Amino acid sequence: MQFEPVIGLEIHAQLKTKTKIFCSCSTEFGKSPNANTCPVCTGMPGVLPVLNKQVVSFAIKAALATHCTINEESRFDRKNYFYPDLPKGYQISQYAMPIAEHGHLDVDSMALGGTKSIGITRIHMEEDAGKLIHDSARARSLVDLNRTGVPLIEIVSEPDIRSAQEAGAYLRKLHAILKYIDVCDGNMEQGSFRCDANISIRPVGQKEFGTRAELKNLNSFKHVEKAILYEIKRQTYILEEGREVVQETRLWDPAENKSFSMRGKEDAHDYRYFPDPDLVPLIVDNEWIATVEKQMPELPGKKRSRFISQYDLTGYDAEILTSSIELADYFEETAFPLKDKKQAANWVMTSLLGMLKTKKLSIGQSPVSAGAFSKLLLLIEDGSINANAAKTVFEQMAETKKDPKTIVKEKGLEQVSDQSELESMVLQTLKENPSEVNAYQGGKTKLFSFFMGQIMKKTRGKADPKIVTKILKINL
Ligand SMILES: [Zn+2]
Repeated sequence: MQFEPVIGLEIHAQLKTKTKIFCSCSTEFGKSPNANTCPVCTGMPGVLPVLNKQVVSFAIKAALATHCTINEESRFDRKNYFYPDLPKGYQISQYAMPIAEHGHLDVDSMALGGTKSIGITRIHMEEDAGKLIHDSARARSLVDLNRTGVPLIEIVSEPDIRSAQEAGAYLRKLHAILKYIDVCDGNMEQGSFRCDANISIRPVGQKEFGTRAELKNLNSFKHVEKAILYEIKRQTYILEEGREVVQETRLWDPAENKSFSMRGKEDAHDYRYFPDPDLVPLIVDNEWIATVEKQMPELPGKKRSRFISQYDLTGYDAEILTSSIELADYFEETAFPLKDKKQAANWVMTSLLGMLKTKKLSIGQSPVSAGAFSKLLLLIEDGSINANAAKTVFEQMAETKKDPKTIVKEKGLEQVSDQSELESMVLQTLKENPSEVNAYQGGKTKLFSFFMGQIMKKTRGKADPKIVTKILKINL
C-alpha cells in the first residue's frame, strides 16, 4: 500500500518588541537569570496584565504579509496547565477568537517545480513561558523567568503540506517574510523562531486523516526536514505491521537522528481554556490596520519582480538574491555604483555566498562589506584588473579585510592592457606554437582558448582578455 504524509506546521515566532507583552520588563536575551522580571511576569497574586500595543501592531503586520483576515474583535484566553516554568499556572493566549485567520503563503520552490499555496489557519498572540536549567551535576533544576511574558505569535498552517521538502520551503519562506517585515529576528538558535510539526500518513486516495504525532520544538530547518522524514518512515512501518499510530507528542534528538515519545498528546479541552477576565476584548479598527499597512516594506515577491525588471536578472537569480532581506540589501548596495548590475549579481551569488558558506558566516558577519565589494567590482569596470585577478583580490579581502586597491598594488595584479606590449606577446606566442596555429587555421577553432591560456601564463593572469582576443583574431 502507498501512503502519503499530511503535515501541518505551528510556528512560534518571538516578536522584536523592547518590552514584554503584559508588563514593561525588558525582552533582552542573555541577561543574568531572573534579571528581567517583575511581579506581573512572575505571576504574583493581585497583579494585572496590560497589553503592549506594539505586540498587536506586529501581529497585524504578520497577518497582512500572509494574506490573513484581521478580526475586528479578538480575545485573550487562559490556557491552564502546570509546569515549573509557568508561575501563574496558566499561559495567556488566544483561543476561540484569534487576531487573524484564513491566510495563505505561496511557496515557490525549484524543488516543487512551481508554486503551491499553503493555507494559514490562524495567527494568534501569546506569552512565552520561562526556562528550566537542569543542573545534573548537583541533581537540581533552576528556574529562569526572563523569558516569561516575552511576546510570541503562533502561526498555524493548514494540513496542506505533503513532504519534508515542502515543509522546509514553507518554513524558509515564512522565516524570510518575518525578517523582511522586521517583527522577528529569526534567530533559531536562541529560539526566536521554532516549529512544531503535526504529521500523519494515510493511504493514497483516502480523504480522512490518519492519527497524528506532534514533533515539538524543532529549531533548525534541517532538523525539521530530517524529523519529518523520520516520522513518515516510523508511521509507515507501524501501519505496514498492522499496528496503530498513537496520538502523542514526540521530541527530536538531532544527535541520535531519531525521535522519542515525550507524552500522550493533549486535546484542547485538557487545557480548560476560558476568557482571561483581566483583559478586555481587543478591538482592531480599520484605522489601526491602515497605519500598519503604511509601514509595510516591499515583500519578497514584489522585490523579486523589481529585481528582474530593474537589474535585468533571471527569475532564478532574483529568487536567490531576494531569499533574505540581508542578501537583497547587500546586493543592491553592491550594485548601486556599478554599470553592470548583472555582473554584480553574479559576483554576489558565487564569490560572496561561496565564501560565507566555507567560513560558515551569515551575511551580517561577512568580512567583505557591500561597499568594499563595490570598490573591487569598479576596478574590473574601469579596466584596472581583470576578473581573474579580482578573484584573488576578493579572497585576500575576505582574509585581511584590506582595501581592494591596496591588495592590487601589493600583489602587482594591475591588468596588462598596453596594446603594443600585448601585441608582441601574441606574436611571439604564435611563433612558438606553429602546429597549433596550423590546426586553428584548418578549422580547429577550439584552440583559441589555448592561445589565450598561453598569454595569460606569460602575464601571470593579468592580461586584459578583451584586448588579447582582438589582437589574436587579427593575427590568426
Ligand atoms: Zn515583568
